[in-house]
Amino acid sequence: MISRSLNHHTWGRNLSQGMSGDDVRHLQIRVSGYPEYGAVLALDGSYGPATRAAVLRFQQAYGLTADGLAGPQTFNKIYELQDNDCTPANFSYAEMNKCNSDWSGGAVSASTARFNALVSMWKLQAMRRALGNVPLNISSGFRSYSCNSAVGGAANSRHLYGDGVDLVGSPSFCRLAQQARYHGFSNILGPGYPGHNDHTHLGVTASRSWSAPNCGI
Ligand SMILES: [Zn+2]
Repeated sequence: MISRSLNHHTWGRNLSQGMSGDDVRHLQIRVSGYPEYGAVLALDGSYGPATRAAVLRFQQAYGLTADGLAGPQTFNKIYELQDNDCTPANFSYAEMNKCNSDWSGGAVSASTARFNALVSMWKLQAMRRALGNVPLNISSGFRSYSCNSAVGGAANSRHLYGDGVDLVGSPSFCRLAQQARYHGFSNILGPGYPGHNDHTHLGVTASRSWSAPNCGI
């Protein structure tokens, strides 16, 4: 675990409420799947009450001492979950981009699209854990404008921004849509929403946009 941590982000100090910095932001990315129901955790580098609560939920999810403080216990769990490229263990950039090799051609810069995909993967990791460590099957992630139009995606699709994810297979589309509400996805479209009876779409929009009428959403 220690040697594995050398190639990816590591933390040099313990973090707690009231602190700020780029290391806080790196922590926020990794606990971004643990906001309040319906909320999106701000990645602002400021360890406020929402970040503390997210750390606490992360700790609870993994059976750690739930104190809302990010110390060795929390960091070691993150190191265990994290691959060398900072993606969470069960997801990869390749899964999140089946469109091209360089994340170009979308609605944001390639680096922003790639970053947004990274954050979505940490949210999916949290969701996967909550669903009982079941694999989640991504059919589509980032799309350039040309990839998006080739599949008939919406003109303002979150896939153009890198955070959009389509899930297929199991768990059921409704189960996925319902669970996603707890993990930082403000954009959830599923069964009953036009064009979404064969997958569940997740992403991040500035204001909440949820619609999966067949699932009670
Ligand atoms: Zn989608």
